[in-house]
Amino acid sequence: MKITLRKVTKTPLDFEVKSNEITFKGYLEYHAGKLIFLKADLSGLLIKACDSCGEEFKMPIDEKVEFFISDGVYEDDNNIELDVVESFNGIADIDEILNSEVELIKSDYHSCENCK
Ligand SMILES: [Zn+2]
Repeated sequence: MKITLRKVTKTPLDFEVKSNEITFKGYLEYHAGKLIFLKADLSGLLIKACDSCGEEFKMPIDEKVEFFISDGVYEDDNNIELDVVESFNGIADIDEILNSEVELIKSDYHSCENCK
C-alpha cells in the first residue's frame, strides 16, 4: 500500500496492511511544513528464530508505532528532537514501513518459551 504524501490532510487517513500473521493498522495525518504524522499499532504473531536455540517460534507482538514522515529533506529549524523518516519520492510505502518495523523487532534478542 502506497500513500502519496501530498494528499494527506488534517483529516486522518486510515490504513491497514497485513503481512503473514501481523497487522499494521493506523493513520497518517498532516502535521506542519513537510511533515506527516504516522501513528499505528503493530500486532499479531511474529515468526522468529530463537536467539538461544535457533528454533523458530511465534512471538505475540503489540507495539505502538509513532513517527513523522518528511516529504523530502527534513531540516530541523526549531531544534526539536522529532523522530523523522525522510521520503524522497513523495510516497509513504506502508508495506515497507511494516517490514522495517518487523525487522527491528526481530533484531532484538528474543528467546522461545523453552529457553526462558
Ligand atoms: Zn529457544
